[in-house]
Amino acid sequence: MFNEISNDKVYKNLIHGEWVESENLENLIEIKSPLDGSLVGKVTAMSKKDIDNVIKSAKKAQANWDNVPIIKRVEILYKAADILEKHSNEIAEIMLYEVCKDIKSAKTEVLRTADLIRSTANHSDILQGESLTGSVYPGYTKNKQAIVTKVPLGVVLAISPFNYPINLAASKIAPAILAGNSVVFKSATQGVISALHMVKCFEEAGVPAGVLNSVTGYGSEIGDYIVSHRGINFINYTGSTEVGRKLSKLAEMTPLLMELGGKDSAIVLDDADLNLAANNIVSGAFSYSGQRCTAIKRILVTKDVADNLVSLIKDEMTKIKAGNPIHEDVTVVPLIDEKTAEFVESLIEDAKKLGADILIGGKRDKNLVYPTLVDNVTENMRLAWEEPFGPVLPIIRVKDIEEAIEISNKSEYGLQASVFTKDINKAFYVANKLEVGAVQINNKTERGPDIFPFSGVKDSGVGVQGVKYAIEAMTRPKSIVLNLNL
Ligand code: NAP
Repeated sequence: MFNEISNDKVYKNLIHGEWVESENLENLIEIKSPLDGSLVGKVTAMSKKDIDNVIKSAKKAQANWDNVPIIKRVEILYKAADILEKHSNEIAEIMLYEVCKDIKSAKTEVLRTADLIRSTANHSDILQGESLTGSVYPGYTKNKQAIVTKVPLGVVLAISPFNYPINLAASKIAPAILAGNSVVFKSATQGVISALHMVKCFEEAGVPAGVLNSVTGYGSEIGDYIVSHRGINFINYTGSTEVGRKLSKLAEMTPLLMELGGKDSAIVLDDADLNLAANNIVSGAFSYSGQRCTAIKRILVTKDVADNLVSLIKDEMTKIKAGNPIHEDVTVVPLIDEKTAEFVESLIEDAKKLGADILIGGKRDKNLVYPTLVDNVTENMRLAWEEPFGPVLPIIRVKDIEEAIEISNKSEYGLQASVFTKDINKAFYVANKLEVGAVQINNKTERGPDIFPFSGVKDSGVGVQGVKYAIEAMTRPKSIVLNLNL
């Protein structure tokens, strides 16, 4: 099935139902593996003219798609989920090389995505609409009745990041098309080959020509053009805050949903189950080398239990294997590129220079940063505030619960946070005060289940993801008002 999407590792784009090859073979981007530099594939650096054509096709297709019965769209989504699931091993193998994710996690991502697509299909009732009577409002009578339908927004631009190339693409595509939109999909360049395989699954399932189209090329080259294109009616973006900020300016009046960076804190209180906390913190901080928006990115621990917690975390970290994800049980893998590894290293160096203690790690070999634990991090250090997107965990010792809340909230980010305590009242006290999209009680910060709302405040996002919320975000209520003569 996947033979159609590439020719000798040169990948094509899905445009108006056809897999189209680049006309200019000099205009190809080489996607190399962060693992060993091997060639994963080549994709087209699309031109502005190519993008105009894609958007034109998406616009044309959308009008017809909106007329396709919702139950038929549901059937197509179920089929896409089954096809994706069937090809989970092949896609996971590509992800291993393209984004350096271990096979088990890559396969889990693909299977979780198939579930997400099915769950989206299960939520089609959201598109039912409603009927309202004016007579409940002062001055109006039964004569005025509104039929409120949920209509699609038009052409949705979906932009996904490298770290979950399948899941964070499908979480935009599936709800958009269920709601009757068409989609122009731009994957992160590193991750695009995996993503094109998923696009093929949707096409194979029967998504009609033009309803789902792929666009390839560096965001830095085509991003501004596509984001500010008048043919785009909604932007659904996941990625860094830096790029998100830029997009939101360019988008002007085009509505958008943005999932951005984070600096999730794990707050550990005096009465916490420290074994549970250490276990969750280590897996939350280091899985996929911390390249997760919801990775635990700092610990705020009250001083009386700090030494015990640090000792347990050190023990737990001895179980982490770092290296090549081809080997089983490797948690810390090479980062997506060397530039990111250098950035992570610079955060560690800054903390060290300003007096923090490197308890474990602090070493780097090209793009592999070894799991690093940094104690006695203070507010004057970059590591206290910046998102590393790498395997480094800072510990900030605080005097009490109030200081933990204060430092957590001082961050420019507000994605998630964890609080570890055996006292449910304290847990709720902290949870209510934290300026974040979600608080996990006695668990690591994490996305999912995908039906829960997922959102960030401050620099962590705009709008809400999660199956039903994403469908709602990509529709609008439209009223047709009956003025009866009763
Ligand atoms: P990124 O560099 O910001 O890229 C994200 C996407 O934006 C990619 O598709 C990228 O394409 C594209 N892009 C770059 N410049 C653009 C422009 N000028 N116009 C339009 N698109 C542009 O982020 P990343 O490194 O892939 O992902 C890591 C970041 O994403 C972290 O900050 C992480 O916290 C965040 N993230 C957030 C969530 C969440 O749910 N809150 C989930 C996952 C990740 P190219 O690849 O071609 O540059």
